[in-house]
Amino acid sequence: MTELLNATETGIAEAARLLREGALVAFPTETVYGLGGDARSDTAVARIFEAKGRPRFNPLIVHVAELDAARAVAIFDDRAERVASAFWPGPLTLVLPLRPSARLSPLVTADLPSVAVRVPAHPVAQALLHAFGGPLAAPSANPSGKVSPTRAGHVMAGLSGRIAAVVDGGTCAVGVESTILGLTDGAALLRPGGIPAEALEDCLGHRLETGGDNERPNAPGQLASHYAPSAPVRLDVAAPERGAFWIGFGPEAGGADLNLSPTGDLVEAAANLFHYLREADLRAKGPISVSPIPDRGLGRAINDRLRRAAAPRPVA
Ligand code: AMP
Ligand code: MG
Repeated sequence: MTELLNATETGIAEAARLLREGALVAFPTETVYGLGGDARSDTAVARIFEAKGRPRFNPLIVHVAELDAARAVAIFDDRAERVASAFWPGPLTLVLPLRPSARLSPLVTADLPSVAVRVPAHPVAQALLHAFGGPLAAPSANPSGKVSPTRAGHVMAGLSGRIAAVVDGGTCAVGVESTILGLTDGAALLRPGGIPAEALEDCLGHRLETGGDNERPNAPGQLASHYAPSAPVRLDVAAPERGAFWIGFGPEAGGADLNLSPTGDLVEAAANLFHYLREADLRAKGPISVSPIPDRGLGRAINDRLRRAAAPRPVA
């Protein structure tokens, strides 16, 4: 059952309580409705991918109440400070270097060294972020591949029964997604959106590169090789192998060095995935082998990420 909450003090307090429990709550922003979950909780972020049915772990935008909270998760240079003070709160997302002390779930950034962050202007989003008191990962609140929702009813139509609640804040004013400006190296328009590129160029005093696109923020090859473990990775290994570090899944993988989910729960497995790949890389003395993961629901995104980790590495 998905609760429809009013955007009153009581409704927002209830939404914040659900978010603190790790549940998912959709809320209005000035662009579209976002599907919010605690950006510090692996389980909450795994649930976002599950609820949307996303086939891969692409990075999510982190929503915070104010600039100071953004500085806690990202490293701001002078250019970032300038555009943030000009356009926040508002429909602008900045991709910046991830602050090492940010304590975000690695699922939010797809384990990249960058983070996408924004301060939304919508009064309900602001009230919820203040009531919750932390960063919220919030992609658009629609099933993967469907149109972004601009009303609470649209969210209900797509996600009812899959999330804890929707805060009804009426119709979103902007109706298109936030503009994404990448400032990790150079200055690139990663996605056009609510703030025109020209306004950003005026603020920065130079033209923007057009880099990447919304579906592939980073070249897939880059994602595949850059953050893969240094040990070779073998997939669909159902039994322990001599000399290999075994990442298991489910009750059949009793002897595994690490088990993504001893009960075979795909949300738990997704929440553990990046942590276990890193831990395995530290502990493995030979190859890393991984149990078969069922290719349904979140298992598809897990398998997508594992295939990248197992892909042949380009020679440096
Ligand atoms: P959304 O689905 O609305 O949350 O938008 C997410 C988009 O933000 C991704 O498809 C990327 O284009 C961009 N993005 C989010 N996080 C990052 C990141 N850490 N590095 C680069 N781009 C990012
Ligand atoms: Mg979307």
